Amino acid sequence: MKTRHNFNAYYKIIMIKSYNLDLGDGRGTVTVAFVRKRIKNVYLKVERDASVVLNLPYGTPDAWATDYLLSMRDWVCKHVKTRQEAFNKNNLSEVESYKSALIFGKSFEIVRLKGAKPHAVFSGGTVNLYLTNPSDETEAGSVYRAWLRKLAAKIYAEELNDFYDRFFAPLGIAKPIFQIRKMKTLWGSCTPKQSKIVFNENLIRSDMACIRYVVLHELTHLIHYRHDADFYAFVEARMPDWKECKKRLRQYM
Ligand SMILES: [Zn+2]
Repeated sequence: MKTRHNFNAYYKIIMIKSYNLDLGDGRGTVTVAFVRKRIKNVYLKVERDASVVLNLPYGTPDAWATDYLLSMRDWVCKHVKTRQEAFNKNNLSEVESYKSALIFGKSFEIVRLKGAKPHAVFSGGTVNLYLTNPSDETEAGSVYRAWLRKLAAKIYAEELNDFYDRFFAPLGIAKPIFQIRKMKTLWGSCTPKQSKIVFNENLIRSDMACIRYVVLHELTHLIHYRHDADFYAFVEARMPDWKECKKRLRQYM
């Protein structure tokens, strides 16, 4: 039940507003999440995965928050760069050694523990791998990957059900089946004739908003075959920030 609780926290995070901060001087833009909480002070943070979060007391006007961000552009730029460099470095080594996991766009520590029955538990912000031999890379890899695929299946199913029930069932569209596969260039694909959707197993590495965008995108193909104006109008009406998600997805491929 504990893991279930963690996922609910992610769902809440994606409901927050986001703002595209132009860093100026041709340094590009970063997406800043505005999180309103019961706090007294404004708190700007660059996370380990280089995402930027601005924590605000309830009632702080957006205009004040954006002015504040503009005044902090140099600070944001510097810290994002530092985090990105560290994050990329970590991710390269971590693939080999299963020391940390990229899930929902965030990096989580992987802890290996001795256990009679190999399995994985996601709790308190770490992925605990229980292994018969904690120093065995092969065992760690297979336990981790099996767990991640199961998690991916659960998350994709939940998001698919949610969108389907709200937007597709009322239109009389038959519920599609979905599969998970390793894919090199696609996040998802849809075969409307077979009412079948395939999701990339690595989609779970991207943040929840990106996952939701891919699920909605593939479902929309059940109604609109091509990527035409009608297709994007349908997506936009149900997910106004789809463009930012599409852009962000590139960093996870
Ligand atoms: Zn498409």
